Amino acid sequence: MSGNELSKIRNIGITAHIDAGKTTTTERILYYTGVSHKIGEVHDGNTTTDYMEQERERGITITSAAVTCEWNDHRINIIDTPGHIDFNIEVNRSLRVLDGAVFIIEGVAGVQPQSETNWRLADRYNVPRIIFINKLDRTGADFYRAFDTLKEKLDIVALPLQLPIGAEENFLGVVDLVEMRAIIWEGGELGAKFHYEEIPDDLKEKAAEYRQNLLDTALAVDDAGMEEYFENGDVSVATLKRALKRGTIDGTFRPTLCGTAFKNKGVQPLLDAVIDYLPAPNDVEGIRIAPPEDEEVDENKLPIIPVDPDGKFAGLAFKIINDKYGTLTFVRVYRGVLRSGDMVLNTTKGHKERIGRMFQMHADKRQELKEVHAGDIAAFVGLKDTQTGDTLADQDDPVVLERMAFPVPVIDIS
Ligand code: GDP
Repeated sequence: MSGNELSKIRNIGITAHIDAGKTTTTERILYYTGVSHKIGEVHDGNTTTDYMEQERERGITITSAAVTCEWNDHRINIIDTPGHIDFNIEVNRSLRVLDGAVFIIEGVAGVQPQSETNWRLADRYNVPRIIFINKLDRTGADFYRAFDTLKEKLDIVALPLQLPIGAEENFLGVVDLVEMRAIIWEGGELGAKFHYEEIPDDLKEKAAEYRQNLLDTALAVDDAGMEEYFENGDVSVATLKRALKRGTIDGTFRPTLCGTAFKNKGVQPLLDAVIDYLPAPNDVEGIRIAPPEDEEVDENKLPIIPVDPDGKFAGLAFKIINDKYGTLTFVRVYRGVLRSGDMVLNTTKGHKERIGRMFQMHADKRQELKEVHAGDIAAFVGLKDTQTGDTLADQDDPVVLERMAFPVPVIDIS
């Protein structure tokens, strides 16, 4: 991606019940986006997103690092959201700085308890979501049954954008209901390629039915699209995508895709969907300012700071990691530009911080940045006394951004 166009940034999380395939999907994404030249398999314990030794031992991801990759001239920052029940505070922290999320569920078990908990947390922060039903290659996997658990357990309007072709070990590809074509993967090895085909005869009727549902549901939120539909009996792919993005952002429905991350089927269309349907930083409302100390206020009435490239700098520290290079403070920038060497105010603590080196973390390298912009995420080296949840801001406009709620309220999902 060239420049810093907000519309070309996606800050996303990938969230899942433990073992549903979050790590595998993240690894495949890093592989396909070309920044990771070798896939770290989970069982080898060398996956790029697992920072800490502790994680390697446990085989679960408990930190929230952010990894940057590029896809179709867009920059995708993947903020690692932990999936384990014990780490709800971590999930909560990272959800705050996401603009959208990919929600992975398992093709055999469907929605599991941890997915429900994470789903409710994402609801609290109005995080737009798309769903990926993974592991369709597994014995016993059933897209339609897993899909039904979305409605049953989460009470949502899940909207299939794809139907599977073949099942279990014969899972071959998907019918893409947006473009009405089949996507067939070749082989099952790393770097798997795909080609487009006509929709198979035995799925034509079903695809037509699901496509009609897709049009009815998506166009209901898009007046211009509905008009186009009445005039022509169908809509352009661009119109349908626009409607799908709108409904995804406002939470009217949840686009649902499928595949098997492990066998490399479905990950590229998932990346396309991240670009097409999940919001850019300026598609969502921004972040609230923090409530005044010692005062009871209705948090929903606090002013919102929109993501603004031209405003005075403001950013939120959301994760701190100690690695071999020292302390890395991950900051989500909401407003303005920050250059290395600038002095900012930690408005939460009331002291100044000098900005040293800043990096974007890729799977296999760290790229030094001379400046960071609204909408983006970067790791700062050498901040002296900034903790998770602190705001860094321009001294001329010392705003304090919404802190993250601690402890996480118990969410009743019974
Ligand atoms: P996480 O806990 O959600 O991060 O899940 P992982 O990515 O670690 O996956 C858990 C296990 O499921 C690992 O052994 C993976 O190799 C396996 N796995 C992940 N995706 C798939 C898939 O699409 N098909 C099959 N059969 N196994 C998968």
